[in-house]
Amino acid sequence: MKFFNKLFRNKNTSTEANKYMNNGDLEDWNNKFVLKNIEVKNIFIKALNLYNTEFCQCAYPRFQQIVGIDCRDFGESFKCFDTDLLIDIVKPSFYSEKSTLTDECTNEKWICKKCGSTYEYGWSDFSIAVDRKKLKLVKLNIIPQGKMTIKPIPIFIGLYGYSYPARTEINSVTLTEFEEYMTER
Ligand SMILES: [Zn+2]
Repeated sequence: MKFFNKLFRNKNTSTEANKYMNNGDLEDWNNKFVLKNIEVKNIFIKALNLYNTEFCQCAYPRFQQIVGIDCRDFGESFKCFDTDLLIDIVKPSFYSEKSTLTDECTNEKWICKKCGSTYEYGWSDFSIAVDRKKLKLVKLNIIPQGKMTIKPIPIFIGLYGYSYPARTEINSVTLTEFEEYMTER
Protein backbone atom coordinates (compact mmCIF):
# COMPACT_ATOMS: atom_id res chain seq x y z
CA MET A 1 0.00 0.00 0.00
CA LYS A 2 2.83 2.38 0.87
CA PHE A 3 4.28 1.80 -2.57
CA PHE A 4 1.10 2.86 -4.30
CA ASN A 5 0.69 5.88 -2.05
CA LYS A 6 3.90 7.20 -3.50
CA LEU A 7 3.46 6.04 -7.04
CA PHE A 8 1.90 9.20 -8.37
CA ARG A 9 2.82 12.69 -7.52
CA ASN A 10 -0.43 14.00 -6.16
CA LYS A 11 0.47 12.68 -2.75
CA ASN A 12 -2.22 14.41 -0.70
CA THR A 13 -5.17 13.15 -2.68
CA SER A 14 -3.76 9.67 -3.28
CA THR A 15 -2.93 9.21 0.42
CA GLU A 16 -6.42 10.35 1.32
CA ALA A 17 -7.91 8.00 -1.23
CA ASN A 18 -5.84 5.05 -0.05
CA LYS A 19 -7.26 5.28 3.47
CA TYR A 20 -10.41 3.92 1.93
CA MET A 21 -8.79 1.52 -0.52
CA ASN A 22 -9.93 -2.08 -0.25
CA ASN A 23 -8.28 -5.10 -1.89
CA GLY A 24 -10.37 -4.68 -5.00
CA ASP A 25 -9.27 -1.05 -5.38
CA LEU A 26 -5.65 -2.05 -4.84
CA GLU A 27 -5.91 -4.76 -7.49
CA ASP A 28 -7.44 -2.22 -9.87
CA TRP A 29 -4.61 0.23 -9.12
CA ASN A 30 -2.03 -2.48 -9.72
CA ASN A 31 -3.65 -3.53 -13.00
CA LYS A 32 -3.58 0.08 -14.21
CA PHE A 33 0.13 0.34 -13.36
CA VAL A 34 0.93 -2.89 -15.23
CA LEU A 35 -1.12 -1.69 -18.22
CA LYS A 36 0.70 1.67 -18.25
CA ASN A 37 4.04 -0.17 -18.36
CA ILE A 38 2.91 -2.29 -21.30
CA GLU A 39 1.59 0.76 -23.18
CA VAL A 40 4.80 2.71 -22.70
CA LYS A 41 6.96 -0.30 -23.55
CA ASN A 42 5.14 -0.51 -26.90
CA ILE A 43 5.74 3.22 -27.51
CA PHE A 44 9.45 2.87 -26.73
CA ILE A 45 9.83 -0.14 -29.06
CA LYS A 46 8.06 1.80 -31.83
CA ALA A 47 10.22 4.89 -31.22
CA LEU A 48 13.49 2.92 -31.18
CA ASN A 49 12.55 1.20 -34.45
CA LEU A 50 11.89 4.64 -35.94
CA TYR A 51 15.21 6.07 -34.67
CA ASN A 52 17.09 3.08 -36.08
CA THR A 53 15.51 3.32 -39.52
CA GLU A 54 17.96 6.06 -40.50
CA PHE A 55 20.30 6.69 -37.57
CA CYS A 56 20.29 5.39 -34.01
CA GLN A 57 18.69 6.51 -30.76
CA CYS A 58 21.70 8.75 -30.05
CA ALA A 59 20.67 11.23 -32.80
CA TYR A 60 17.38 12.01 -31.03
CA PRO A 61 17.38 14.70 -28.30
CA ARG A 62 14.03 13.47 -26.94
CA PHE A 63 15.51 10.00 -26.39
CA GLN A 64 18.46 11.59 -24.56
CA GLN A 65 16.07 13.63 -22.42
CA ILE A 66 13.85 10.76 -21.25
CA VAL A 67 16.67 8.24 -20.78
CA GLY A 68 18.68 10.88 -18.87
CA ILE A 69 16.14 11.86 -16.18
CA ASP A 70 18.13 11.71 -12.94
CA CYS A 71 16.71 12.78 -9.58
CA ARG A 72 20.16 13.99 -8.52
CA ASP A 73 19.94 16.74 -11.15
CA PHE A 74 16.94 18.08 -9.23
CA GLY A 75 18.40 17.52 -5.77
CA GLU A 76 15.53 15.10 -5.04
CA SER A 77 15.13 11.38 -4.34
CA PHE A 78 12.84 9.59 -6.78
CA LYS A 79 12.76 7.14 -9.64
CA CYS A 80 11.08 7.81 -12.98
CA PHE A 81 9.44 4.59 -14.16
CA ASP A 82 9.52 5.78 -17.78
CA THR A 83 13.31 6.29 -17.61
CA ASP A 84 14.02 2.92 -15.96
CA LEU A 85 11.91 1.16 -18.59
CA LEU A 86 13.57 2.94 -21.53
CA ILE A 87 17.03 2.06 -20.19
CA ASP A 88 16.00 -1.62 -19.90
CA ILE A 89 14.63 -1.69 -23.45
CA VAL A 90 17.55 0.12 -25.13
CA LYS A 91 20.27 -1.81 -23.27
CA PRO A 92 20.89 -4.36 -26.11
CA SER A 93 21.93 -1.43 -28.37
CA PHE A 94 25.04 -0.84 -26.25
CA TYR A 95 28.29 -2.54 -25.30
CA SER A 96 29.21 -2.01 -21.67
CA GLU A 97 32.65 -1.51 -20.18
CA LYS A 98 34.06 -0.78 -16.77
CA SER A 99 33.54 2.85 -15.80
CA THR A 100 36.10 5.03 -14.07
CA LEU A 101 33.28 6.65 -12.06
CA THR A 102 32.40 5.46 -8.57
CA ASP A 103 29.54 7.79 -7.61
CA GLU A 104 26.81 5.15 -8.00
CA CYS A 105 26.24 1.70 -6.47
CA THR A 106 26.80 0.42 -10.03
CA ASN A 107 28.72 2.43 -12.65
CA GLU A 108 29.17 1.28 -16.27
CA LYS A 109 30.38 2.94 -19.45
CA TRP A 110 27.92 2.21 -22.29
CA ILE A 111 28.96 2.49 -25.95
CA CYS A 112 26.41 2.61 -28.80
CA LYS A 113 26.92 -0.39 -31.09
CA LYS A 114 25.92 1.71 -34.12
CA CYS A 115 27.61 5.13 -33.74
CA GLY A 116 30.05 4.68 -30.88
CA SER A 117 28.58 7.48 -28.72
CA THR A 118 29.42 6.96 -25.07
CA TYR A 119 27.22 7.18 -21.99
CA GLU A 120 27.56 6.67 -18.26
CA TYR A 121 25.07 4.22 -16.81
CA GLY A 122 24.38 4.34 -13.10
CA TRP A 123 22.20 2.48 -10.64
CA SER A 124 21.77 3.35 -6.98
CA ASP A 125 19.31 2.60 -4.22
CA PHE A 126 18.49 5.34 -1.75
CA SER A 127 16.70 2.96 0.61
CA ILE A 128 15.19 -0.51 0.55
CA ALA A 129 12.15 1.04 -1.16
CA VAL A 130 13.62 3.46 -3.71
CA ASP A 131 16.23 2.86 -6.38
CA ARG A 132 16.76 4.36 -9.81
CA LYS A 133 18.75 3.95 -13.03
CA LYS A 134 20.21 6.73 -15.14
CA LEU A 135 21.90 6.89 -18.54
CA LYS A 136 23.77 10.10 -19.30
CA LEU A 137 25.32 11.00 -22.64
CA VAL A 138 29.03 11.72 -22.36
CA LYS A 139 30.21 11.98 -25.98
CA LEU A 140 27.92 12.19 -29.01
CA ASN A 141 29.37 10.69 -32.21
CA ILE A 142 26.51 11.60 -34.51
CA ILE A 143 24.83 14.84 -35.65
CA PRO A 144 21.51 15.28 -33.80
CA GLN A 145 18.58 14.75 -36.17
CA GLY A 146 15.46 14.56 -34.06
CA LYS A 147 13.04 17.21 -32.87
CA MET A 148 13.92 19.47 -29.96
CA THR A 149 12.98 18.63 -26.38
CA ILE A 150 10.35 20.51 -24.41
CA LYS A 151 10.03 21.49 -20.76
CA PRO A 152 8.45 20.41 -18.48
CA ILE A 153 9.76 16.97 -19.42
CA PRO A 154 6.72 14.86 -20.38
CA ILE A 155 6.32 11.42 -18.79
CA PHE A 156 3.46 8.94 -18.67
CA ILE A 157 3.96 6.16 -16.11
CA GLY A 158 5.09 8.40 -13.27
CA LEU A 159 7.53 9.05 -10.46
CA TYR A 160 8.03 7.27 -7.15
CA GLY A 161 10.19 8.28 -4.23
CA TYR A 162 10.65 10.57 -1.25
CA SER A 163 10.77 14.00 -2.87
CA TYR A 164 9.77 15.26 -6.28
CA PRO A 165 10.69 18.02 -8.73
CA ALA A 166 8.26 20.84 -9.50
CA ARG A 167 5.66 20.25 -12.20
CA THR A 168 7.42 22.96 -14.19
CA GLU A 169 10.35 20.51 -14.48
CA ILE A 170 8.62 17.13 -15.08
CA ASN A 171 4.93 16.64 -15.70
CA SER A 172 2.52 13.88 -16.72
CA VAL A 173 0.98 13.88 -20.19
CA THR A 174 -1.60 11.64 -21.87
CA LEU A 175 -0.54 8.40 -23.55
CA THR A 176 -1.25 9.92 -26.98
CA GLU A 177 0.83 13.01 -26.21
CA PHE A 178 3.67 10.83 -24.93
CA GLU A 179 3.58 8.63 -28.04
CA GLU A 180 3.61 11.70 -30.31
CA TYR A 181 6.54 13.15 -28.40
CA MET A 182 8.66 9.99 -28.49
CA THR A 183 7.84 9.14 -32.10
CA GLU A 184 8.60 12.69 -33.29
CA ARG A 185 5.13 13.59 -34.57
ZN1 LIG B 1 24.27 5.68 -31.48
